Amino acid sequence: MKEPLELRISKAIWRSTADDWLRLLSSDVIIVGAGPSGLTAANYLAKSGCKTLVLERRLSFGGGIGGGGMLLHKIVVDDEAIPILKDFKIGYEYLSEYDLYVLDSSELMAKLAANAIDSGAKVITGMTVEDLIVREKPFKVEGVVVQWSAVLLSGLHVDPLFIYSKAVVDATGHDAEVIRIVERKNPEVGIKVLGERSAYAEVSESKVVEMTGKVVEGLYVCGMAVAALRHIYRMGPIFSSMLLSGRKVAEEVLKDLGAYKMTNLKNA
Ligand SMILES: Cc1cc2nc3c(=O)[nH]c(=O)nc-3n(C[C@H](O)[C@H](O)[C@H](O)COP(=O)(O)OP(=O)(O)OC[C@H]3O[C@@H](n4cnc5c(N)ncnc54)[C@H](O)[C@@H]3O)c2cc1C
Repeated sequence: MKEPLELRISKAIWRSTADDWLRLLSSDVIIVGAGPSGLTAANYLAKSGCKTLVLERRLSFGGGIGGGGMLLHKIVVDDEAIPILKDFKIGYEYLSEYDLYVLDSSELMAKLAANAIDSGAKVITGMTVEDLIVREKPFKVEGVVVQWSAVLLSGLHVDPLFIYSKAVVDATGHDAEVIRIVERKNPEVGIKVLGERSAYAEVSESKVVEMTGKVVEGLYVCGMAVAALRHIYRMGPIFSSMLLSGRKVAEEVLKDLGAYKMTNLKNA
């Protein structure tokens, strides 16, 4: 005879969660933040065979995409981002009078996330990265320290847990939260988060992509966290550099991890 439904519901959730975490506790790449840059990076990394884990503090994904431009449901990109939109079958419209492409923020959010998951990335929401696992001489990042966001909001003192990875990507947006951990807790490394500058979209769109990449051994940065770290101008709701930065950080990580044997979650 079957166990009561309530018992089976709970057992199914415990079993499946534990199975996931036992595989994820040692990942190839951890991406902190499920905004446009983090989800784009997750797409290309997972597609390339990396065991990719995205940790998102909120219970939803998309980061700043959902707000569009001042809550209007549209964002823009220029022609450089079009190949990425095509990779993920995201619709867009060309407005010739402005030489810009316009797309729906909800479609971008949904399809970046759906493609990342279909490629084999695991996106876990409600989980905050509050610290890093590090080694010294030379300084190296070897993973993250995590806590349920709900616990952090409650103010309860609860010990966090650890997740190992070969690479950690700071895709936390304007606050560059992961890099600020290195700045604050490991001052001997000499990292200074300079903060982003006022708006100058033309310059910042290319600078953010150019300066995307490795920060210290094991730690990479993409998206608006690059602007915060490198004192680059803000650019408003034009998202080309977010997508291009996500793709570039994936390429940089893959170059560095080339020597490792990576196991996509789908094949694990
Ligand atoms: C106040 C404000 C100002 C903006 N200004 C600009 C601008 O100047 N230029 C511009 O291009 N866009 C701006 N935007 C729009 C938009 O935020 C960004 O362009 C874009 O979303 C940034 O993408 P991202 O991938 O870098 O990070 P985000 O979209 O910000 O995504 C980061 C994600 O990381 C998560 N996260 C943060 N810390 C942690 C942690 N410790 N653990 C787990 N998850 C974490 C967040 O919850 C979020 O979902 C702004 C948005 C807001 C709300």
